[in-house]
Amino acid sequence: MRTIIEPFKIKSVEPIRLTSAAQREAKLRDASYNVFLLAAEDVLIDLLTDSGTAAMSSEQWAAIMRGDEAYAGSRSWFRFERAVREIFGFRHVLPTHQGRAAERILFSAMCSPGDVVPNNTHFDTTRANVEYTGAEARDLVIDEARVPSLRHPFKGNMNVARLRELIAEIGRERIPLCMLTVTNNSGGGQPVSMTNVREVSAVCREHGIPLYIDACRFAENAYFIKLREPGYAARTPIDIAREMFALADGCTMSAKKDGIANIGGFLATNDEALSLEARNLLILTEGFPTYGGLAGRDLDAIAVGLHEALDEDYLLYRITSTTYLGEHIAEAGVPIVQPPGGHAVYLDAAAFFPQIPPHELPGQALVVELYREAGIRAVEIGTVMFGRRVPETGEETLAAMELVRLAIPRRVYTQSHIDYVVEAILNVWARRQDVHGYRFVEQAPMLRHFTARFEPLNGDSVPSR
Ligand SMILES: *Cc1c(COP(=O)(O)O)cnc(C)c1O
Repeated sequence: MRTIIEPFKIKSVEPIRLTSAAQREAKLRDASYNVFLLAAEDVLIDLLTDSGTAAMSSEQWAAIMRGDEAYAGSRSWFRFERAVREIFGFRHVLPTHQGRAAERILFSAMCSPGDVVPNNTHFDTTRANVEYTGAEARDLVIDEARVPSLRHPFKGNMNVARLRELIAEIGRERIPLCMLTVTNNSGGGQPVSMTNVREVSAVCREHGIPLYIDACRFAENAYFIKLREPGYAARTPIDIAREMFALADGCTMSAKKDGIANIGGFLATNDEALSLEARNLLILTEGFPTYGGLAGRDLDAIAVGLHEALDEDYLLYRITSTTYLGEHIAEAGVPIVQPPGGHAVYLDAAAFFPQIPPHELPGQALVVELYREAGIRAVEIGTVMFGRRVPETGEETLAAMELVRLAIPRRVYTQSHIDYVVEAILNVWARRQDVHGYRFVEQAPMLRHFTARFEPLNGDSVPSR
């Protein structure tokens, strides 16, 4: 059989609503052309993020009902701890409400001003939490990762030579830990090879630097290793994941990704002293160490979800549906980050709209067109998100790339939804020459993409509020 089907049937459905073109035009104007300001019910296919947006299985909903809400030492906690130990193998497990809470606790315990934390590419909350301690977050991804059209099987790999150079340059004392993000979210959802994890681990061990894995998409990464790395084709994803984590000293995790849960996360480590300090920080802001800001029912849903994320049928469907979207639009000439990632397809908006210069926000223009065309919500990852207005001159600093991310929620959409997305993108592609840029009319000094207001540069102005 050639067709790879969704390995589930649907027990509960949530209606989605198709709006008319006129309605979408009005919604866009009301939202000042910022899709973060749209109401979710006005969106037909929501590809804003894969975080916390997954569909839970019947087993997870059953686990929700089994949830034990005892304050301390609940049965849910022991099931959660067992699942994390079985897969990740680390001795100490600390539950947190999200991945970023695990990051905050880890970096507050380990980093000091003047330190440098290397990573293949820091995710934005990871970078922010490193910088909050006064340390510097340094991205050391391989050069191939910075060229969208270039294909490489493990574009998330760290440049090991540059890691060695960094250690030689600033000294081991200023590097409290090294991190690897699997898959590399900010770099296009690209995987890291086992060979690379092994090499990074060897360099870290040689210098006594602890290695932590940002494990959010560990199951997708394990499956890419199975598909692409020699010697792993016959291995199971859980076995590959265990081999990877055995090369590290701990991990941070957002269960909103490969935990297939709607909330949750954890910090895990083999370092006894660190675990004691982290536990104290946990009690301060998250909660008692056997629940860490989560309800017992959340812990139970995550315990089930972590194992489901490693199911081979699920992973085949997951990676195939993302690749399917990427390849169908790329075949028609649409420029994307190659190859498609595990959780998302990234459109290269600068190449999509060569007539729109970066300061006229081509990524924002593409996000608007996808909603205008078909009610699809994507997210700009370019100058709107990463650029800044220089207060003195009013000029925009530009991002390195102008990308638009289509993140696929886990187990939520079927192939016909994806076919619809392909069709919509190709329709916008066909009329790409007629699309104009945007300018900011209002923006916050930080994290401006969430609340900014825009105006199209084709003469239509936004009615004043
Ligand atoms: C989502 C994410 C985080 C942060 O997790 P939250 O649960 O959103 O706090 C950290 N790192 C990576 C790679 C992520 O994708």
